[in-house]
Amino acid sequence: MELSTILAYQEVDRQLFLLEQNLAKSPSKLKCNALSQTAKDSQVKSSQLEERAGSILREMEELKKTISSTKRHGEELLQINLENANADQINEMLSKKDKVSQNLSALDKRLTKLAESISAVLADYNRTVKNYNEAKAQYQKFKAEYDQIVAQEQPKIDELKKQLQALSKKVEPSTMELYNKKRADKIFPVFVQLMGNNCGRCRMELSASALSKLKNEHVLSCENCRSIIYEN
Ligand SMILES: [Zn+2]
Repeated sequence: MELSTILAYQEVDRQLFLLEQNLAKSPSKLKCNALSQTAKDSQVKSSQLEERAGSILREMEELKKTISSTKRHGEELLQINLENANADQINEMLSKKDKVSQNLSALDKRLTKLAESISAVLADYNRTVKNYNEAKAQYQKFKAEYDQIVAQEQPKIDELKKQLQALSKKVEPSTMELYNKKRADKIFPVFVQLMGNNCGRCRMELSASALSKLKNEHVLSCENCRSIIYEN
């Protein structure tokens, strides 16, 4: 691998990398990232709340059906003719009626509880939608701010890219391809010099076998930071 051309390329690329880093760390960009995360979280939460509301509503429907049929049963009991019934039969009937009223009262309580739950879920849902909308509006504002900063840097970026384009023609295509792949993964510098027995980027000490591999092949991908280490 011919290193001098790619190292020259990397020197110019360093300025572009720093520019990109500064843009990525600019307050408006960080704000955009945070707001976009808030919007995503709100979306997830609102769909969970929708599901929860749906299941409560289904439970309420079922409960209303049970209440209707229990009421019907109570009315049927009232219609039974007790004129010729003996005391035992009358007592049995009264105890059945009691049971029905007890059931109905428990079912009503359950229905009230569900109605309260659905109100709470809906209130939470409305809050979540509001948060989402606010995050979206704020995002637009900071995005416009960030776009302006990028626009200011654009001439510098374009100029550096032009220089890099020219330099890239002198680099072996396979080396350029490898470089671009690492660079796209935000590994920078891509090529680093061996410092003693350590990686020049992350300072991890190389094992004896890694060192001998580097000696034989002249370059070696760092196991830790994935930069390409070269020997001088
Ligand atoms: Zn490393």
